[in-house]
Amino acid sequence: MWFLKTQEEVLKELDANPLTGLTSEEAKTRLNQYGENKLKSKPKKTLILQFFAQLKDMLVYVLLGAAVITLFIGEYVDAIIIMLVVVLNAIIGVVQEYKAEKAIEALQQMTTPKSLVRRDGEVKEINSEEIVPGDIIILDAGRFVPADLRLIESANLQIEESSLTGESVPSDKNAKDIYENPKTPIGDKSNMAFMSTLTTYGRGEGVVVATAMDTEIGKIAEILDEDNNEMTPLQRRLAELGKTLGFIAIGICTLIFIIALLQKRDLFEMFLTAISLAVAAIPEGLAAIVAIVLALGVAKMSKINAIVKKLPAVETLGSVNIICSDKTGTLTQNKMTVVKYYTFNKLTEVPEVGVNLKASDNEKELIKSFVLCSDATYENDQGTGDPTEIALLILGNKYNLSQISLSANYKRISEKPFDSDRKLMSTLNEEGTGYRVHTKGAIDNLMSISNSVLIDGKTVPLTEDIKANYLKVTEEMSDDALRVLGVAFKDTRSLIEPEDMEKDLTIIGLVGMIDPPRSEVKNSIKEAKMAGITPVMITGDHKNTAVAIAKELGIADSIEQSLTGAEIDQLSEKDFANRINDYRVFARVSPEHKVKIVKAYKSQGNIVSMTGDGVNDAPALKYADIGVAMGITGTDVSKGASDMILTDDNFTTIVHAIEEGRNIYNNIRKSVIFLLSCNLGEVITILASILFFWPVPLLPTQILWINLITDTLPAIALGIDPGDKDVMRKKPRDPKESFFADGVGLRAIFGGALIGILTLAAFNFGLREYGYSLGSRNIPEDVTTYARTMAFVVLAGSQLFYSLAMRNSSKSIFQIGICSNMYLIGAIIIGFILQLGVISIPFLANAFKVHNLSLVDWSLVVFMAIIPLIVNEITKLFIENRS
Ligand code: ATP
Repeated sequence: MWFLKTQEEVLKELDANPLTGLTSEEAKTRLNQYGENKLKSKPKKTLILQFFAQLKDMLVYVLLGAAVITLFIGEYVDAIIIMLVVVLNAIIGVVQEYKAEKAIEALQQMTTPKSLVRRDGEVKEINSEEIVPGDIIILDAGRFVPADLRLIESANLQIEESSLTGESVPSDKNAKDIYENPKTPIGDKSNMAFMSTLTTYGRGEGVVVATAMDTEIGKIAEILDEDNNEMTPLQRRLAELGKTLGFIAIGICTLIFIIALLQKRDLFEMFLTAISLAVAAIPEGLAAIVAIVLALGVAKMSKINAIVKKLPAVETLGSVNIICSDKTGTLTQNKMTVVKYYTFNKLTEVPEVGVNLKASDNEKELIKSFVLCSDATYENDQGTGDPTEIALLILGNKYNLSQISLSANYKRISEKPFDSDRKLMSTLNEEGTGYRVHTKGAIDNLMSISNSVLIDGKTVPLTEDIKANYLKVTEEMSDDALRVLGVAFKDTRSLIEPEDMEKDLTIIGLVGMIDPPRSEVKNSIKEAKMAGITPVMITGDHKNTAVAIAKELGIADSIEQSLTGAEIDQLSEKDFANRINDYRVFARVSPEHKVKIVKAYKSQGNIVSMTGDGVNDAPALKYADIGVAMGITGTDVSKGASDMILTDDNFTTIVHAIEEGRNIYNNIRKSVIFLLSCNLGEVITILASILFFWPVPLLPTQILWINLITDTLPAIALGIDPGDKDVMRKKPRDPKESFFADGVGLRAIFGGALIGILTLAAFNFGLREYGYSLGSRNIPEDVTTYARTMAFVVLAGSQLFYSLAMRNSSKSIFQIGICSNMYLIGAIIIGFILQLGVISIPFLANAFKVHNLSLVDWSLVVFMAIIPLIVNEITKLFIENRS
């Protein structure tokens, strides 16, 4: 019942000191005692359960049926092989799923929220899981509350507690409140903050009173059910395709069975053939391959600083054609330095280094207000907090107006925090016997709430001329790409409420600070443009500053390509949408404009990625096709609403992620088309033999074997193919475009047909060696077995070789480098070794009903097997010459 107690009682009971926090050692001891601050999640599926889950598959039912029947007829070896394949397939499935899961889990680990905690006398950011009772937690807007806290300090603190109370309007919090009624409902406990709720406004500090399952949310959500198995649109489409192919296969099987009945063939053999066909046609590896390629892809992306939170984002990334990016920190370095300041009619350059610099009284007032109105800290050359404010504190240090001495002399009483809608921040500090409001922010907004200016120590009315003078200086600084920030003040006798702070102010002056562009961004912008992507700058900053930086980076050419938030408001939704493609820079925007911008782009058929970091950016991030949150400066809310997080806050990473997204999609396509071509080759072989009344060239166990060696390693190796160097020279993929577009479907059919025909040809060769042909009757078993072996090797070999051709649809394997995907080369070699083994190791050869081949025949089958690859490469020559 912490809310009934005073702060002192709570702190004493928890043995906590709000000024220094716990020591690291004490925190460690408590972590051992109380455990990690983590809500229990659903118990994981055991391996056995995962194994059985793999068996819930149409192909497995078909195979199990076949196994039972073969057993019944006494074909024990076949039954064993079929069962082995079922088990092996399931094991491979489990391994792939496990790998995919691990990759996703690792990503989730990276996105666990962090918390600001005071330990060993310092404020540190640690993983929320390491928080223990007695820790002192600092809350600011946009952060999730990491544990249950008894508040010990609050400044306009508001917390949204809908996860606990269902109430989405944020509750006001006050650390000083104490309750007497033990039955006070959770939503009314204003001196407490609860785990999983969200700070939406203000600041506060609290001492942790409960962690993990002891928290209020822990008590409700006994078990956190977090199923993150979201399928991507492509996965869904492929699952559908797999199902359709499965049904078609069963249909054809039935048909064949009927034909065979009419042809009066041996029923048992026909039954086995029907099974062969089903096995050939059902693309069993499809779903697993796509899942693993996606998982490996996102794991790779996390290494280049892009954490994909939602799998569908990987696909969408490949289609993005507009990147809307924040300026500060994403396009620029967010390393601010004040280079100039201006008080009426006096512009002063600030030297890069300097101590004890001289300034007039008016200028000192300017710097003093800026420093007092900052939340950041700067000690021992180390700054924490907003870089804009750190720059102001450094400015203060140069003029001997340090934050420590100023804040000791002019104690802060209350404040109105910065938000990107108002673009202002205010504090109320003691001043002499009264108080003073210090307000800093965008000069245009400041001007609209001020009525006077401080000139040479005197307050004079803010006339239109003076306004024009300030605006002119602002524009000049902005044209030089400087960020301009104004400051104003107001004295009061008595305390005033935050809502009364920002009116009737007296402007003191302004500062201009540089924030150099990130050096790598210019190239990324070039690359994006080449890839058919338009980079767009969105910023809260002044239009001229924004355009100056946009020009430097190559985003825009002229000021005509920019629009301000106020100008957006004047346009109707339709007009804005119609003209949106003319603009490259949106300045002085608030988060709500971001939503308008995304909407307008989307209405014109664009696929938009939008960056954001603040609490209010969440709607725009959700609305964008790809919401991108900042890993360093982003709030928990923006991260929660995003599809992807940039761990380095860098624009370049977005471009890299898009490149990776395109590569991943292409690789999935390669694997899937490869699998389908292979399956088609098998279907054609069997189907033709039935329709033309030929002996069946392949036994079910042989097809199963081939699928086992091609559907696994080579398919995965294709899925992790190194990206095509030219992938960023192509236009973004139209999301509506069919998976089989660009002749990809035709290629699959062509490749499949070729594999099928060659397999039949090899079978025919085998028969001919003994004087028989496809049309012969009463072929001795031995001869069929020999011919089957040839077909078997050609089918396996041609698929293995063919995988090489799948790597690129227009470039030859020599252009991309045969050895540039060593995994694939390895997979092919392993495939051939296994194939050789199955034929030459007597007991395996017996089991699979094959013979060892003569050297001449080996040469012949290898030659035949390589034909689909060669034909494909020759076709590429034509494609290349044509384009
Ligand atoms: P981005 O380009 O990422 O949108 P931004 O810094 O340009 O970032 P905001 O952070 O919303 O956008 O800032 C908008 C304006 O608000 C700035 O141009 C500046 O005038 C003002 N401002 C920024 N930070 C502060 C602050 N800490 N206190 C007061 N005013 C600020």
